[in-house]
Amino acid sequence: EKRSYGRLRRLPAQLQGGEAIELHANLELPAELPMLLRNGAKGIGLLRSEFLFGEREDLPDEDGQAAVYRSIVAGMDGHPVTIRVLDWGGEKGRACMRRLGLSDSITDGDNPALGLRGLRLLLRVPDVLEAQFSAILRAAAPSADGAIGQVRVLLPMVTSADEIVAAREIYEKVARRLKRRGEPMPETLPPLGIMVETPAAALTADSLAQYADFIALGTNDLTMYTLAVDRADAAVADRYSPLHPAVLRLISMTATSALRAHRPISVCGEMASDPRVVALLIGLGIRSFSMSSAALPRVKRLVRTLTLEDCDQLRRQVMLETDSEVIRDLIRNFAT
Ligand code: PEP
Ligand code: MG
Repeated sequence: EKRSYGRLRRLPAQLQGGEAIELHANLELPAELPMLLRNGAKGIGLLRSEFLFGEREDLPDEDGQAAVYRSIVAGMDGHPVTIRVLDWGGEKGRACMRRLGLSDSITDGDNPALGLRGLRLLLRVPDVLEAQFSAILRAAAPSADGAIGQVRVLLPMVTSADEIVAAREIYEKVARRLKRRGEPMPETLPPLGIMVETPAAALTADSLAQYADFIALGTNDLTMYTLAVDRADAAVADRYSPLHPAVLRLISMTATSALRAHRPISVCGEMASDPRVVALLIGLGIRSFSMSSAALPRVKRLVRTLTLEDCDQLRRQVMLETDSEVIRDLIRNFAT
């Protein structure tokens, strides 16, 4: 199997009819970079920047962050790198909040997943967001040898347009400041995109798309918030299903909205790690995926055997069903 993966790595990710499918990887730790490249990722679809801030007591400063981002961008050798700004809060740790200088009285709500999290948290600590934007923009500048990295910037946990507008104002202000100071900058501002991972964002994706340069579907949180099932709570793990028709309809709506608005869309939740689920998502109009590196070869191998018609037929069958279990069976039996 190892040897066939080696050959697979050099083959393009495409359907039988030649339609290109973009296969990127999610990255949590810089140390995973070699594995990501070995498994044939053509980019990083989701860099979870939380790792940077992981166990440290103090936040890494702008220079420290810029150095890490720059090494990852350089390591990807011109392939796109999508850097998500900090997605703290919720189940991702209340302890982090204290380090942001937010008092317990602000952050100790009963429902952290519904509290200060992601972009709404960052907008409360604009200095942190500014430093991160600034570090990312510096990492996106052409390097001394003229190499240009393709950087994209991603906002987590968006629920409404005003949050995107506020973040973009800060983003542009930071870019102007770097320019004024004569810092090396990318010639054009890297695209600023949004995670669609709340039902609110999925239902209004058509209008949010007007404010976002691209869309990344975060199906892990979209599943949690749609089904009201905590993704980290073992007691309800059996109720957590990204294949629930409600989740699939929201994914479908988001895909349609993005395509109509001519905004690139990708899926970067865990469901993109299942090759047969990827077939369904292709049927729903999605052509770009980001997954854990380990899943890449298996996804690519199946993708290369499929036609668009196969995927479309699976979509037609699945979207008629109302029961997650039936849907799961349809997918399990697909292309076997
Ligand atoms: C998601 O929610 O699907 C996602 C990709 O983001 P994270 O898993 O980091 O919350
Ligand atoms: Mg998420």
